[in-house]
Amino acid sequence: MNKRLKLGWFSFSCCEDSTIIFTELLNDHYLTWKKLIDFRSISVLQKKEDLTDLDVAFVEGAITSGGQSDRLKVIRENSKKLVAVGSCACVGMPSAQRNLFNTETNTEIEAILTRFKYLPKVQKLSEIVTVDDQVPGCPMNEKIFLTLVDKYLKEFKIIS
Ligand code: SF4
Repeated sequence: MNKRLKLGWFSFSCCEDSTIIFTELLNDHYLTWKKLIDFRSISVLQKKEDLTDLDVAFVEGAITSGGQSDRLKVIRENSKKLVAVGSCACVGMPSAQRNLFNTETNTEIEAILTRFKYLPKVQKLSEIVTVDDQVPGCPMNEKIFLTLVDKYLKEFKIIS
């Protein structure tokens, strides 16, 4: 088989609607993409996961816990490019709504933060790792996503 783009798709705290958009896009693009893309990690499609030396990691959702932050760093270390997908990953909102809670509401949710080891503040990806590209939108903008897939297929010399 010819060289393929080693791609991972990851979701953190969010509603995963960009993942749904992605699976909808597979209806139109899967037959083409399976020849060009090696899906190394995408839990909505397969259980197996291989993070070794990814070309591109698409990451959806905001970061809410230390465990998520650690996993994001591992993904970053193993990916040549990392793309924030959707508003929650790009700017934190709307997943980061609790960052705006007043003191009274923060007191109410304190036990939940402790129980689930949540961070004091929800963070966008770029507060933790370097982000190479962004797909804005809530959910993600399909056209920008497809343009980026094409860009990386060319950049990694999968297509000319
Ligand atoms: S950006 Fe919007 S669609 Fe995407 S995970 Fe966040 S709330 Fe859901």
